[in-house]
Amino acid sequence: GHAGPYIGRFAPSPTGPLHAGSLVAALASWLDARAVHDGRGGRWLVRIEDVDLPRCVPGAAERILAQLAACGLLPDAPPLYQSSRGARYQQVLDQLLAGRLAYPCACTRRDIAAALAAQGLAHERHVERPYPGTCRQGLQGRAPRAWRFHATQYQAKMPLALSSKAQEAPISIAITGVHWTDRRLGPQFQDVARQVGDFVLRRADGLWAYQLAVVVDDADQGVTHVVRGEDLADNTPRQILLQSALGLPTPHYLHTSLVRAADGEKLSKQHGAPPIDHGRPLQALAKAAQALGLPAPEDGSTVAQALALWVGAWARIYNPAL
Ligand code: GLU
Repeated sequence: GHAGPYIGRFAPSPTGPLHAGSLVAALASWLDARAVHDGRGGRWLVRIEDVDLPRCVPGAAERILAQLAACGLLPDAPPLYQSSRGARYQQVLDQLLAGRLAYPCACTRRDIAAALAAQGLAHERHVERPYPGTCRQGLQGRAPRAWRFHATQYQAKMPLALSSKAQEAPISIAITGVHWTDRRLGPQFQDVARQVGDFVLRRADGLWAYQLAVVVDDADQGVTHVVRGEDLADNTPRQILLQSALGLPTPHYLHTSLVRAADGEKLSKQHGAPPIDHGRPLQALAKAAQALGLPAPEDGSTVAQALALWVGAWARIYNPAL
């Protein structure tokens, strides 16, 4: 089983208040930390992912923290704000550049579309094409705009990298791609080189990419267990590649099922999901618990009683010791 301290986290982007979907990730990650049965429970951290400042809404972080508190979900340390971490992200990018694991890219969207067209790949809306690799051999005198991780080369050079000996879950990186095991979804595989390509670490607008920030922060905060929504599952192989390239441990991953809107779409702020009702935390929590397959609280229970019920149920369904 899992030995040593457990550190989990909830990492909301402050683009709006918590809604029914994001509360599921908050509750699941909190329950997983609390259900660790060494008698003390694990630590649970909150990280405010405000790297994409133009998309952040003023006051949203404070609102999210107040909503969490109303739901009895209190972090064990003051929240970490990604907006304060630029110097650290730069240091990590410099480390990758020094190791030739990252490279500058001068391509505009138009350049990328033209290079893909030259390969016979037409631009289709909603189809994310791997970067065609134009700048892999150098900028040919053009000015750098963004920085990319050398995923194709890193994956191709892997004879067979087994990451983090501390892990029981078999994670391996092979020439063919990344194999990893999700605690709920089971064995997963992605050929990052072919399906994603050399992904961006620092964007042309100067903002840090989610993939770099999340990997650096999970490592620096000592996160051992990541519990988040299933919509993020296909980011995990990119994060495992980066962890491996940086010599960082790979946490355990559990991706929860998503709450769907009436029309079957994923609930999101963009989809117009309403904020959870601050005044009725038990009702909001019960809905999130239901999405996680947890029992309904008894009539008249308090938030604390409902949370205690779910900690017990969680330990039986998703053994956090794994
Ligand atoms: N900030 C991301 C989001 O709100 C979550 C990142 C993560 O949990 O890894 O979608």
